[in-house]
Amino acid sequence: MAPRKLAAGNWKMNGDLAALAEIDILCDAHGAPSCDVLICPPATLIHAMKARIGENRIAVGGQDCHARPSGAHTGDISAAQLKDAGATYVILGHSERRADHGESDSDVAQKVSAAIAAGLIAVVCVGETEAERDSGQTLDVIGRQLAGSLPEGANASNCVIAYEPVWAIGTGRTPTTDQIAEVHAFMREKLAASVSDASGMSLLYGGSVKPSNAAEMFAIANVDGALVGGASLKAADFGAIIAAL
Ligand code: PEP
Repeated sequence: MAPRKLAAGNWKMNGDLAALAEIDILCDAHGAPSCDVLICPPATLIHAMKARIGENRIAVGGQDCHARPSGAHTGDISAAQLKDAGATYVILGHSERRADHGESDSDVAQKVSAAIAAGLIAVVCVGETEAERDSGQTLDVIGRQLAGSLPEGANASNCVIAYEPVWAIGTGRTPTTDQIAEVHAFMREKLAASVSDASGMSLLYGGSVKPSNAAEMFAIANVDGALVGGASLKAADFGAIIAAL
């Protein structure tokens, strides 16, 4: 099975009900896209966004979930609750969660297990810091994060991997195409050791993807799509990225 192409948007802590007007514009232009399209808004908007999308082929996802199915975890959301609200995906292990909330690989793996158990597809993020790249540790870091963040049972149907260099997120800086190709080839090879259908797992690149560089990113071997932050907030920009895939 060839990996599915996926354009995924991460709205982070941005957006309100009024911002759903962007979804109407996106649906008008890209409601029946030739690749998979996903938007992960703040949890407060999942239900309303899903309703707004209606029959259009755009998926909605969460940006995090708790590892437990329910219980005394004030402020948290379970994978089943995301699903109940209309989500079919959830981003897990984003570098902002790892940095702001001290999430370890093992924390991420438990959340991925919970997401899979609830029937969600997990978008599992990995990526090196600038210091790690400068000291030649990139592949070690990616290998360690992949091994630690994917639980048993992870496969091409229930997980997508997003390679997001921390230093490229929201900075306007991107790795060279050779650097992205190196990491993606490494991930494909590394996953083959632990995932039976690794050749079919979608591998996204994330970090300052925008309309002007999307086609270049999507031409890189083993890049099956993108996880997009800032440029997913405006339908015109995200639509241009979808069109490039
Ligand atoms: C992200 O938040 O996952 C991301 C890639 O952000 P940006 O596209 O803004 O760099």
